[in-house]
Amino acid sequence: MADPSTLTLDADVLVLGGGPAGTWAAIAAAEAGAKVVLADKGYVGTSGATAPSNTGAWYLPPDPGRREAVIAQRWPGTLGLADRGWMERVMELSWRRIDQLADSGYPFPVDETGRPYRANLRGPDYMRFMRQLVGKAGVRILDHAPGLELLLDGDGRVAGAAGRRRNSGEIWRVRSGAVVIATGGCAFLSRALGCNVLTGDGLLMAAEAGADLSGMEFSSVYGLAPLGSAVTKGLPFFWASFTHEDGTPAETQGDRAGTVAGVLVQGRPVYAVLDRADEALRGWLRKSQPNCFLPFDRAGIDPFTQRFPVSLRLEGTVRGTGGIRLTGEDCATLVPGLYAAGDAATREDIGGANTGAGGPNASWAIATGALAGQGAARFARGTAGRDRRRFAVGTAGLRPDGREAAGFAPDEVVRATQAEVLPLERNYYRSGAGLDASLGVLDGLWREVRDRAPRPGGDPIRAREAAAMIATARWMYASARLRAETRGINRRADRPDTDAALAHRIHSGGLDAVWARPATSPGASA
Ligand SMILES: Cc1cc2nc3c(=O)[nH]c(=O)nc-3n(C[C@H](O)[C@H](O)[C@H](O)COP(=O)(O)OP(=O)(O)OC[C@H]3O[C@@H](n4cnc5c(N)ncnc54)[C@H](O)[C@@H]3O)c2cc1C
Repeated sequence: MADPSTLTLDADVLVLGGGPAGTWAAIAAAEAGAKVVLADKGYVGTSGATAPSNTGAWYLPPDPGRREAVIAQRWPGTLGLADRGWMERVMELSWRRIDQLADSGYPFPVDETGRPYRANLRGPDYMRFMRQLVGKAGVRILDHAPGLELLLDGDGRVAGAAGRRRNSGEIWRVRSGAVVIATGGCAFLSRALGCNVLTGDGLLMAAEAGADLSGMEFSSVYGLAPLGSAVTKGLPFFWASFTHEDGTPAETQGDRAGTVAGVLVQGRPVYAVLDRADEALRGWLRKSQPNCFLPFDRAGIDPFTQRFPVSLRLEGTVRGTGGIRLTGEDCATLVPGLYAAGDAATREDIGGANTGAGGPNASWAIATGALAGQGAARFARGTAGRDRRRFAVGTAGLRPDGREAAGFAPDEVVRATQAEVLPLERNYYRSGAGLDASLGVLDGLWREVRDRAPRPGGDPIRAREAAAMIATARWMYASARLRAETRGINRRADRPDTDAALAHRIHSGGLDAVWARPATSPGASA
């Protein structure tokens, strides 16, 4: 077969990922005068975790009392690992950019007093509107064009990326002055809503270029869904009662997911019914969350009066916290020219040891997207006119080091990785021995994808996703091994208590030799 053709483009800023973080980054970079290319694995406007969801966001006008009250309410749950300065910055930027949406004509709904309600962004409408804004800003969009590896110049600065177009197989290569990674989190192809494009690709690309990560132990969020359904939207379950097969109530264990996990991990089914919602709420839920009711309507179940079995789907770092470590307020990373935003970056600054879902994460995507776009545009200006030779730095799943002749089957490697991260007894409830066992398996899988090429006929994009998932799982578990305590969403069944001596962040990284170590400055991101 002939080699696939190559599309080569030049830009000041390349943004990888077109969810909220990536689209805000592209807009901010274009506002700063940069020529911008935005490449997404899917179709910008419909891809990623926000597109099919309703996301509550922080929309708090500059009233210090109100903002302080929200921080005070969140603070205990961050368990010593958040950063107040970042929380304030994210609130301010989120408020300003949401107002920018309104000024650009976004049709916010009005509340019962006739005032626009801006603290909730309906995913499909929001992301369709963001695509339009990106287009108006003059950004060139590459849809269905996953980035696969970064390009570095001779001075070790990030100078573009290369990927592949899904439909044609064509290779694309963008030579840029700087890159923003906004590829979202990693949900390990668990089929959670909007998450099957989120395989940790950006984390692997960043690590290959020399970046590190933080908070990867906070990666065990599972979303509640009717059994067999992908719809992990949690809102309707606020009004649920949970029962065993015989109808007796399930013992409450922490939050709703905890209650369900506690039964499922014993190999027993668990049922829910949304019987705590009154008539008015039922109507409102159906209207405001229509896709939650599709599975029930298809099965002919009235979820307000009839019990239905439920399950948990891994969302990993998507509604978790860990990701690429930022080294400054401009969302720079350890590698010059590389910026990170949204779920691809660690959200410990706003969530600490807990999930930042329910407002903070959506606002973080907006704020860090805008900051990273501005930072990248500034960096690119400093590189203009330089002759930059570039070389690609992708490794496992992409460029085998040739030690093994036989190819690997990407789907088999994905399944083997999932066997280490999806089961509740491995990832929801962690233990030192379990983590060690999983790390042993994952190290072996890493060697396989590092040494071999995908089997002829194997999907090259899936091969790279497999490598990214293994890398992400290894950073998660190496970090969880070091955090020998239960703190937030790092639940160690063998260490149920929180250890005051571990009130610091954990950084991680490495490819062949994965490492995790305590951060030297407790609580601070840099
Ligand atoms: C069901 C659900 C409900 C949620 N509700 C809330 C809420 O109410 N409030 C809240 O604050 N947060 C919520 N969240 C979290 C919120 O959705 C995320 O924080 C937010 O989407 C992050 O934006 P992002 O742009 O970083 O990532 P995403 O929106 O996930 O976008 C990432 C993009 O990167 C693309 N991509 C992936 N790999 C590549 C690659 N290799 N090359 C190019 N592109 C790539 C993907 O196709 C995708 O378009 C929810 C999440 C889920 C799953």
